Amino acid sequence: MTDEHGPRGAILQRDKSTYAVVPRFAAAGVLDAATLRRLAEVVDNYRIPVVKITSAQRIALVGLKPGDVEAVLADLGAEPAPAVGRCVHYIQACPGKTFCRFGQQDSLGLGARLDEMLLGYGEFGHKFKIGISGCLFNCSESWLRDFGAFGKPKGWTVVVGGTSGHRPRIGNELVRDVDDETVVALAKKAADLYQELGKKAERMGWTIERVGVETFRERLLAD
Ligand code: SF4
Repeated sequence: MTDEHGPRGAILQRDKSTYAVVPRFAAAGVLDAATLRRLAEVVDNYRIPVVKITSAQRIALVGLKPGDVEAVLADLGAEPAPAVGRCVHYIQACPGKTFCRFGQQDSLGLGARLDEMLLGYGEFGHKFKIGISGCLFNCSESWLRDFGAFGKPKGWTVVVGGTSGHRPRIGNELVRDVDDETVVALAKKAADLYQELGKKAERMGWTIERVGVETFRERLLAD
């Protein structure tokens, strides 16, 4: 939970006195040596007690003193990534055909594009998560994300309305064998349609159930 009066983008921790922050510097979970060195220096300099790789392939710095949050972000040269709030929280992507022998499509490239375009986007009724997998093994759990895509030899299969959490739901297949451009366009359209139709505290899958799968699909695929 975020403390309204706490540091920008930081999450108050269980001890009610320290904060966690997720710097925005690892699109699709990819890091380089320079970033890791900078991160290590910051962790040492500010005596950050815990560095946690999150389930969303991000790095959370945990146990920060409130007065250190802005300085930590400045030293890292990063903005805080959205960790709470009713917007696009994260874009997960697996190694895909860049590295994985099973990969059929470029999930890292597509994930980075969506990260650039949609991270933090929207004022929805609830949060919105994206998972991009390079093949039908679905290591980025695309079927369980509000918007997901997984690669096959002829292109991407797109699914919408998946979620885990307290009311899990497998997403609905939307289209098959589409290219990167189409996935990017559909992701933006899905987010906009959810913003229009979704109610407060309603994940997109529940919105789809309320308005009807076919109605939602028709709206999403309309020109
Ligand atoms: S989803 Fe496929 S391409 Fe991606 S990591 Fe898993 S096996 Fe590899």
